[in-house]
This record gives sequence, structure tokens and C-alpha cells, in this order.
Amino acid sequence: MAREEFDYIVVGGGSAGCVTAARLVEGNKTVLLLEGGHSNRHPLLDTPPGIFKMINGSKFMHYHKTSPQEHLGGRAHDIPQANVLGGGSSVNAQVYMRGRPSDYDAWDAILRGNNDGADWSWNAVLKHFRGMEDNNRLNNAFHSVDGKMQVSDPGHIDQISRWFVQAVQGMGEPFNPDFNGPTQRGVGFYQFMNRHGRRSSAAYAFLTPLEGDKRLTLRLQSRVERLLIEGGRAIGVEWRDTSGTLHQSHARGEIVVTAGALITPKLLMLSGLGPADHLREHGIKVIADLPGVGQNLIDHPEVPIIATANGKYGYFGQSNGWRMLMNGLQFRLFGTGRILSAGVEAGAFVNPTDPHAEPSIQAFCVPIVYLDRDTLGLVENTYGLTITTVVVKPKSRGEVRLRSANPADMPIVSPNLLKHPDDMAAMIAGQRFFIRALQTAPLASRIRKIAIPDPEHLDDDALTAHCKRFVKTNYHPASTARMGADGDPLAVLDARMRVRGIAGLRVADMSAVPDINAGNTNAPAMMLGDRCADFILDNQ
Ligand SMILES: Cc1cc2nc3c(=O)[nH]c(=O)nc-3n(C[C@H](O)[C@H](O)[C@H](O)COP(=O)(O)OP(=O)(O)OC[C@H]3O[C@@H](n4cnc5c(N)ncnc54)[C@H](O)[C@@H]3O)c2cc1C
Repeated sequence: MAREEFDYIVVGGGSAGCVTAARLVEGNKTVLLLEGGHSNRHPLLDTPPGIFKMINGSKFMHYHKTSPQEHLGGRAHDIPQANVLGGGSSVNAQVYMRGRPSDYDAWDAILRGNNDGADWSWNAVLKHFRGMEDNNRLNNAFHSVDGKMQVSDPGHIDQISRWFVQAVQGMGEPFNPDFNGPTQRGVGFYQFMNRHGRRSSAAYAFLTPLEGDKRLTLRLQSRVERLLIEGGRAIGVEWRDTSGTLHQSHARGEIVVTAGALITPKLLMLSGLGPADHLREHGIKVIADLPGVGQNLIDHPEVPIIATANGKYGYFGQSNGWRMLMNGLQFRLFGTGRILSAGVEAGAFVNPTDPHAEPSIQAFCVPIVYLDRDTLGLVENTYGLTITTVVVKPKSRGEVRLRSANPADMPIVSPNLLKHPDDMAAMIAGQRFFIRALQTAPLASRIRKIAIPDPEHLDDDALTAHCKRFVKTNYHPASTARMGADGDPLAVLDARMRVRGIAGLRVADMSAVPDINAGNTNAPAMMLGDRCADFILDNQ
């Protein structure tokens, strides 16, 4: 068979990968985009509440199970990751969040001294965020209307979400009309990556306009198993189609890996790039000893507070078929109603211990008694709300390791959520803060019962036990092949996202970040994909 060759190969068509591939094609390069998952064209993915199905069981997801987490009493929890074109941007809750300026200025402080001298400061990344954005309300120094990613105010806001916003104001927090503006602090309504109830994923926004473009070769359900490296240069990839046939494709230019923070390190390790001892354990020939690959896993931990309502406030529980049918009908006929809600409408960024310091906690107000594997049977399935609290700058670090040298095996993932005592202390303070919100007007008079945690027992021991029992991922794994300073032994990438010691290879997804941003991670992942394309097109 003839050797198949492209200018560039992008491995993984997720939030970052779609953007990188599209930008390279627009730069007149030929690109092979290999996506392991399915097509993103499915009504469940398009409509905002589809998220609930995604979290709980769908072919569009892969469900990683963590190794038993000793500090959580041996509990293991799921980490769902996308298995579909568009990646996380096709399955997520669509909350549009960038993090805050200090996140990126801190990256820049780490990377600034590097020989390649790339600028990662807030001013440098803001241009990419704005460049990708088409906002339906804002157009100013922080926001733009000219980009391809549609960002909109919520299409539907439940009354209980409004009471949440008022209750937190009642506690002295300011109303924040724009969490992606000059300050994160306060309470308000999120913006979402959608328009008129239709998801604006990286796939829809960036790849759909290129349909039919001969420079882009997109292959779905094509799972990359390893990178081909010769003489210190990445020259191609080996991938398997659904019939089980193994193929090789080659790149004249570079290969960009964007398979997500749990799979990118696995692919690097299977290709001989990673901690030498660990690779040898699995009989993999070491090409570059990169001890940082798979290390430094960071994720945002979330813990729920669930309250039942004393009236028909919020959405009625789950598994209520006829109501969902009515909501669907209303959306089809009038384009209005609850289908326009991604299940979260309001939120907050607060610092419960020092209101004037940067926020330590992000909260999501979900206008439903949200029942999952951990809470089902424990909490009555009725009207109410769930507030999840998230530590935005966690100090806990975990890891991704190979289970075996077999590419079909999922990696072993240990995120160590809340293992660092400072993370637990921050989470406990966040829980107490938002329990108080439930006891503040106008929410207080609508709450029948705070179901979890037990409001009679809010001492440190009781809340620690609650957090250990219910903590799970906020779906933001990151930093497993991170950019770092020259001379940092755990730095996998330089500041231009190039894998250290290997030519022609970059990583451009959430694996690459030196630290996690304070807030959701989809827009940052897309920004990384955009920046990577710039580096490549500028020959940097
Ligand atoms: C359920 C859920 C809800 C979320 N909610 C939000 C939210 O509301 N707001 C927000 O900002 N963020 C949210 N996120 C997080 C955000 O979507 C992710 O951080 C972001 O999508 C990560 O982008 P990425 O490019 O790093 O990886 P991904 O988008 O995960 O892309 C990786 C891609 O690689 C593919 N792939 C994997 N292995 C292979 C292989 N071997 N060969 C080829 N392809 C492969 C995958 O199928 C996937 O398409 C959520 C995530 C999830 C899972």
C-alpha cells in the first residue's frame, strides 16, 4: 500500500484538536485528523440537558474508573471523558469559562525565562479567547462578536436559580454580570457555548465550515495506538480502524497530540516517551526518559450539597419521562423552555475565608435534586436543588500510569482529589458557605430539608467524612504532560508545546497546562489548540 502522507497529523479531535486542525487547514496545510470516537451529529449531544445522559452512560463517553483512593477509604470514582468528535466540547455542560488573569500570568512567570521565550501572560491569551468568541451580549475589551464559537446567556433560567443568586447576594457577595470579565468574584448567571439551545462545540464551530475541504482528512473511530519516532523525530502514527486493521500515516511536518489529559500521556508512554523505569516495567523501549509524562495530574474536585424544596421549585427529579417529553415538545414548537438549560444556570466564585482574596471556590447551582450512583436511594427524588462546590486551585496532584503495554487497556488513573489538607480545608469552608446560602432569603423559605450534608453536624470531622464520601471529578483532568521551565525535570514540553528531546511533536490539549485554571476548562483547551496552530504556522 502507498505511503500515506500529510503536512500535519492531529491525534484526537477534541476541544483542542478540532481547533488546531482547522487552523492548520486554513493556513493551507494538509491535515489528517484522527478521532477515536463517534460522529458528533446526534440530537442528544446538540441539546443542553443531554449532559445528564453523558455523565451516566453513553457510547459518546469513556468511563475511566480511578484506582482505589486510599485517602478516601479505598473508594474509586468514575472520570467520564468524551469519545466523540469535538471531545469534551460535544458532551460537556457548555459553561463558558476561561479562568482568571492571574492563572495565565502565573504560567507566564514559570515559562518566561525559557529559551523559546513564548508569552503566556493574560494579555497574550486574551487575544485567542476573544478571537474565537461570538458573544450574544458582550463586546468589549474582554469579549468579541467576531469569532466562530457562539457564547450566549442562558436560554432558560429556573426560578430557584434566581433565588440562589439573590441568597448569595444576601450574604454580601456582589452580583457579577460577567465571570469572564474584570473580576471573577461574586454570584450570577453563567454564559454557555451554545445559541438558541444548539451546542457550539469545537467540531461544529471549527470543522463544519471546512466540510468538503480537500486539505482536511477526518477519520472517525480511528484510534491511534502509538507514535512512530525515527532518529529522534516523530514521523507518523499507527492507528486502528473499527475492523481491527492497523494503519500507518506519516507527517511531513509535525504531529500534534490532543487526545485529552488521560490518554495523551498514555500515547506518549506507549511510544517510548515517559518515565524510563515505568516504561521498562512494561517492556517498552525507552526513546526519551521524560519523568513528567503522566505525573502532576490535576483535577477540580466537586462535592454536592442537596436540598429538597417545599414547593414545586426546580426541575422535578430524574427519570420523569412525560415531563421530558413535554419539554421536548415545547422546544420543538416554540424554541423555548427547559431544553434550553444545560442543567446549570447560575453559579458563584467566592472566598469563604477571605472575601478580598481571589476566589477559592466555584459553585454550580443545579435546579434539580441530582441523583447519581453515590446519592441514589439516599436522597428523596423530588423537587429541589443541588449546589456543587469546587476547589478552583487544588494543590493535590495525581498520576496517570500504564496498565499494560496493550493500547486497548485504559490507563490507571489516580487523581488524589482532596488529598492535600489545604484542598480539604477549602472544600469544607465552601460547603459551610453554601449551606448558609440555603438558609438565607429568598432561598431559606423554599427549602424543606437540607438532605446532604447533615446541617446538624457541620463540624470539621463530619464535613470531612461527607467530602470523602461524595467527592468526584468536576471533569477537568489536566497537566499530565505539562509545559515547564527549562531545567525542570518534570517539564514534558517547552513553552511552545514541543515535546522536549523529540523533533516534530507537540501536545496541545489540557495535558499541556503548567497549572489548572480557576474555572471550567473547555475554553482554555480551545485556546491551547489555537495557540499551537499559531506556533506551527509561524514556524516557532
Ligand atoms: C461531562 C463533562 C462536562 C464538562 N462540563 C464543562 C463545562 O460545562 N464547561 C467547560 O468549560 N468544560 C467542561 N468540561 C471540561 C472540558 O470539556 C474539557 O476540559 C475539554 O473538552 C478538554 O479538551 P481536550 O482537548 O484537552 O480533550 P478532549 O476534548 O477530551 O479531546 C480528546 C479527544 O481525543 C479523542 N481520543 C482519545 N483517545 C484517542 C486515540 N487513541 N486516538 C484518537 N483519538 C482519541 C477523544 O475521543 C476526544 O475527542 C466538561 C467535561 C466533561 C467530560
